Order: sequence, then structure tokens, then C-alpha cells
Amino acid sequence: MSENYTQMWTDLGLDLDKHDALLAVLGQAYQDVFLTQKNRPKSMEYFDFVMSEVHGLRIKEIVDARAEGRPVVGTFCTFVPEELVLAVNGVFVGLCSGADFGLESAEKLLPRNTCSLIKSAFGFAIEKVCPYIEASDLIVGENTCDGKKKSFEQYKDLVKDFYAMDLPQTRSVEGKALLKSEYMRFAKKLEEMSGKKITANNLKKAIAIVNKKRAAMHRLSKLRAATPAVISGLDSLLMNQVYFYDDPIRFTDSVNKICDELEERIKSDEAYMDEKAARIVVTGCPMAVPNWKLHSIIESCGAIVVGDESCVGDRGTQTLTKDNSNTLDGLFDYIVERYQTIDCAIYTPNPTREEHIKKMFANTKADGVIQYSLQFCSPYQMEAIPLENTLENKDIPTLRIDTDYSAEDAEQIRTRIEAFIERIQD
Ligand code: SF4
Ligand code: SF4
Repeated sequence: MSENYTQMWTDLGLDLDKHDALLAVLGQAYQDVFLTQKNRPKSMEYFDFVMSEVHGLRIKEIVDARAEGRPVVGTFCTFVPEELVLAVNGVFVGLCSGADFGLESAEKLLPRNTCSLIKSAFGFAIEKVCPYIEASDLIVGENTCDGKKKSFEQYKDLVKDFYAMDLPQTRSVEGKALLKSEYMRFAKKLEEMSGKKITANNLKKAIAIVNKKRAAMHRLSKLRAATPAVISGLDSLLMNQVYFYDDPIRFTDSVNKICDELEERIKSDEAYMDEKAARIVVTGCPMAVPNWKLHSIIESCGAIVVGDESCVGDRGTQTLTKDNSNTLDGLFDYIVERYQTIDCAIYTPNPTREEHIKKMFANTKADGVIQYSLQFCSPYQMEAIPLENTLENKDIPTLRIDTDYSAEDAEQIRTRIEAFIERIQD
């Protein structure tokens, strides 16, 4: 980190010793997983810089934004519309929950059979090591899976200001009406916090910013389909993760710059991986920073991840929001329409997810699909077996991995992935 941010972290109320320990582990993991990769696109330097300043410069920007009266909103789920936060000139940050930290403290409040993501969210808040949590004026928790909605009843007491958002479980007419009324209630909350009205004009501008960000990710997804691959799955995952907390305009420019470079690579036949590397689509639970475990195992086995059907991936970015309405109500309808297309397993039934995976498998010229479920995540674990049966029936080789954030099962997963790669390359 280029500057000393100790005073800023103290002012935010972080536990400095524990925070130092976290940063040391994070920095080493980044070095081992990312910086040891060969032949990375040069423009990935931007993301290396972002990661080196993840608790520094970006937090300073957020603290400065707050000082200017801009509300900072922390979120856990892709159902929370960034467009509404940007419309009031707010700062939208995804809270990571991607590492085991404070597990013991979390398990004093939660049953042990809770998914790692929820435990991590608790651990980071209890141990006071996340400057994003501490810098948020409001933290939005959504009523999606049972684990999240029940755990938020306690989580609300760990943070400054907590806001519960109700979400539908079906894509019915009633579900759509609930989503719209919840988004309107959230808009009101944002207006109160910021003292700014959401108008058709500022909402349209916000939609345009988020659409451009998603369009850049679409461009990246298409380029990941190149054979041989021109970028690693790890670097692509990193971009999908940084998507949630970087400045949206700067992020879009940076992803487009990488895409320009990847297009050049394709033109000049400069591949990242060998043509014979097995190509994998990963699908399942979201992988928040710094959860790089599965991708790192897959790619160290010589395969490459060419697509991520995840909320930290194509599921979260796949659809743009229409903006060809001049009324606020019309724009709200478009936002609802867009967010209803998220193929999250909390929807029942959820047939579009399967269609999406098949499409990604074909478009990326993949050889196999790996389903990633966090242990104790009922929505994704419940979908996993029928999904595997359907995909295998369509001659799409599939492997199911149930895991958590610990490194204990890494060797066992590696053995299973090696066997899977052998199977799909036969
Ligand atoms: S998997 Fe579902 S509940 Fe989880 S972040 Fe994605 S949309 Fe939200
Ligand atoms: S990973 Fe599964 S159980 Fe955990 S918060 Fe997400 S949907 Fe809920």
C-alpha cells in the first residue's frame, strides 16, 4: 500500500491488530494465486493495483464521498439495484464475505451448519476488520435464502444501520408486484438518506452507467470463449469480484481496456493457455473476494475456467436494463423486469438457470461443467442433483463440488478435478 492509512482505519473503528493480520494473509494469497500466473494481459496491472489498495485508496475515496454527503450503501446480493443508489449519487459497495475470519465468534451466534458466506459476513463484522462495513451508512440484507433472512435478525445488531429488503420467491405476477413495491420502498429510504429525489432523469443516467458496466462484462464473457483461451479464469473471476466495489465508470474503462488487449491477442494468435487445455464452466454459489479456491485448483490442474454462471459472474450481469421510458414508473418497471431475470436458486421453480448454463457451455466451447455449492446452502445444493442429471442427459459432463472456505479439502478436490479432466479429455 502506497500510503499510511492507519489514522483512517482507526477513525473507522477497525481493530488494527486483527486488520493487519487479515491484510497480511490477503496480500500473501494474492501474491501466490495471481502474481504467479504466466502471460497475463498487461492491463491486469490495474486490478493488481486495485487489490493492493483494496483497504487503502478505495476506502479513502469512499470516506471522502461520505464527507461530501454521498450515502454509502453496502450490499450482499445482486438483487439490490445499483441503479437506485447511483441515482441519488450514492456509492454502492458489495460486501465480500469470501474468507474464513472470526469463525469462532460467528459460531457463537450461528449454528455450525450455516454456509461459509453467512459465517464470514458475521466474522468480519464482529471482529471489526472490514473497512467497507464500517464505512457504509446503510447495509442492505435481503430476505433470500432461510440462512440469510434468519441470520440478519442478529446481524442487524452488529452494524450501524441495517435495512431488510423483502424479495419474492417466484416470478409470478404477485412476485413481480412485491419486487416493485420493495424497490420503491428502498428508493424512498435512499431519498431520505441523501436528501435527493430520484427522478426519471437521474435514474436514466444511473441506468446508463450500470448498463455500460454490464456491457463491458458481456464483452469479456465473449472473449473468454476464444480458443485457445486468452485470459485465465482467475483473472476473469477477479474482475467479476472487483465489479462490486470499484468506481463504476473507472471499472468499465479498465475492463474495456483489457478487452481491447484480448482482442489484440486473438488477432496475433497470442494465447494464454494451450489449445488442449480442458475448458470448464463453473456454476453455483457466488464467490466473493478473496474466495479463489476452486478456480485456483482447476487452473493449477492445467484446465481453464471459461465461464462463471454465478452472481459474481454472468448471472449477475447477463441482462441490461431498458431505459426507453420517460416516466419514473416506467423505469421502475424496467428495473423490476431486469432483476427478475436473475437465475438465483431462491426462485422456485428456476428453469432459466439450466438454460443459461447450457447456453454458456455451448458459447464458450466448454468440455465440462463444475457445480460449486457451499456446504449447507440448501438452494444451490437442492438444485445440484437434478441439474446434474439434466446436463449429463444432454451429454454435458458435470462434476459436483460441495465445499467451504477452509483449505482442508483442497487436495481431495484436486484429485476429483484431475479425474474429471481426464474424463472430459478422453
Ligand atoms: S445467489 Fe441469490 S441470494 Fe445469493 S447473491 Fe446471488 S441473487 Fe443474491
Ligand atoms: S450461499 Fe446459499 S445459504 Fe449461503 S447465503 Fe447464499 S444462498 Fe444462502
